[in-house]
Amino acid sequence: MPRILVVEDEVAIADALLFVLGSEGFITDWTRLAGEALSRLRTEAVDLVILDVGLPDMTGFEACKALRRFSDVPVMFLTARADEVDRIVGLEIGADDYVVKPFSPREVAARVRAILKRSGGGAAGVGAQTQTLQAPVAREGEFAVDEPLAQIRFLGRPLKLTLHEFRLLEKLLSQPRRVWSREQLLAVLGQPADVGYERNVDGHIKALRSKLREVDAQREPIQTHRGFGYSYQPAAQDG
Ligand code: CA
Repeated sequence: MPRILVVEDEVAIADALLFVLGSEGFITDWTRLAGEALSRLRTEAVDLVILDVGLPDMTGFEACKALRRFSDVPVMFLTARADEVDRIVGLEIGADDYVVKPFSPREVAARVRAILKRSGGGAAGVGAQTQTLQAPVAREGEFAVDEPLAQIRFLGRPLKLTLHEFRLLEKLLSQPRRVWSREQLLAVLGQPADVGYERNVDGHIKALRSKLREVDAQREPIQTHRGFGYSYQPAAQDG
């Protein structure tokens, strides 16, 4: 069983997380202080850390930086503020995912499973054993979206996507042929549209396209609509 350490000073939030994670089969531990979390993480095997940004003794960012000096354990941030999201998304901190409060504990549990899957299960290697388990596939066709595992297959091949690439591609696939503006796609990433992030979308799309080309050099499923945004064009035989 994967072991999750929850570092959160708000008891009600910690309680809800521990309850849901426990009911989904995770072994859970809880501490409300970053310092205690760090000392435990030095000696105990933990598969994933859920780390609140606003903690009494130091920020979650500082804690994560300190953690990264001795451990690669996956970290999911809990955050309450958009400016904190910007720092997490900047990836200067080494986080694997984040959720914004208020959140659904069930969604957190699903994200935890997705991260463990991507990271190969962390210290306990659980992901390697569950790799062959097939979760329900939301949509079939040239693309197959596996929402709980945050995975997308293109022509049967699993794509190695970052979290942002996954969210963008999932959004494009959700409504074939619909043209999404950069602002709408930024919203998918949880970023404000008014501070020059538009080019980030272009960068993620470019990276996505090169990953799709590795699978099929001819197909260009993502279309650019100059001056507006992007759309997913299904293959001709899909209609
Ligand atoms: Ca807090």
